[in-house]
Amino acid sequence: MLLPRLPDPVPPAQHEIAASYIGRLARLHGLDINTLWRCVTEREASGGMRRVVVPERLAAITGRTVHSLAGALPELRTPQPEWAMFRHQPQRGCHHCNAKHPGGEVTRILPHHRYVCTRHRLWLCPSDADGHTTPLDALPEIVQAQRRHLRILQRHGWAITYDAVLSAILICGQLWSLPENENGEARHDWIRRANILIPPGTAETTFSVARLCAAVYPEAVVLATLLASPYWRQQAQRTAWDRRLFNAEIARRLRHPRYGQHENDPISHWANMTAKRPPLAPIRVHDPKHHLREPAQRTATQRAQQRHAHAFNPSHRAGDALIAHRHLATVFRRAWDPFRTHSLLANGDSYYKLS
Ligand SMILES: [Zn+2]
Repeated sequence: MLLPRLPDPVPPAQHEIAASYIGRLARLHGLDINTLWRCVTEREASGGMRRVVVPERLAAITGRTVHSLAGALPELRTPQPEWAMFRHQPQRGCHHCNAKHPGGEVTRILPHHRYVCTRHRLWLCPSDADGHTTPLDALPEIVQAQRRHLRILQRHGWAITYDAVLSAILICGQLWSLPENENGEARHDWIRRANILIPPGTAETTFSVARLCAAVYPEAVVLATLLASPYWRQQAQRTAWDRRLFNAEIARRLRHPRYGQHENDPISHWANMTAKRPPLAPIRVHDPKHHLREPAQRTATQRAQQRHAHAFNPSHRAGDALIAHRHLATVFRRAWDPFRTHSLLANGDSYYKLS
């Protein structure tokens, strides 16, 4: 089929889903989206009803090479990317970055390590409601933590980084819910950031678990550099003396001078139970056979968030909502704290149960 080149073939956005890009091209040219979709797709080879994008056709109508299109659009890559390193649901991402891409909404499938747009200082954590990204102008340490997070990725690869960062966020959530004298100096920063992100008296409109996640993210990334390190994983598993070194390092990183006095804290549990295990794979992985269209509706999640908003107090068990959120489901299910896990499940107060 000879396809005419479009007069204004704008480039795709990085990590944009193919349906989003084709939709923008159609709107920009006043074309019917379904007509253009049929032009650049064909029935899958297995004979099913599903249509798949033919990269050469998209290249023909845009005048761009298949190589450059596939650089931005993960679905066009051959071989297919390792989908486990991406979030399983698309999201809109940073609206400032999207503004330079004409033709309507940009929808992307972002890799797990993308928490912040460092250029525009916006929090993009996926557990937030779509379209409600959070400005970080007053919290530069969160932007800095994203850069540190990327250094863990470069050093250890996506799988170890994914496990270490989620484990660390979960640990911080657990520490935040401990009694005040057991959770160290970092707690003061979590309360300070929570009061900026969720100003007192506004929780009904500003509360989200994504913002709690942002509040602990700097310390979580500091902790994750240690959880990802083969050296510190070994130290965590060895003799009492080596554990003392490990505990001293935790105390230094989390500014928690008394750390190590209790054996039954979340980090000791990680050292006893998890340090020797391989990294966990995400529970939900994007299925390329399922067409990516729009970000999912999350009414159940939003209802659960409203319940937590009602009871939110940054000084009292504020980590509970974070621990129960489905963003952490992969590491939560590892059940490193059986008592806590069972009580949460028994309460039915868990976001991921709703998903
Ligand atoms: Zn941006």
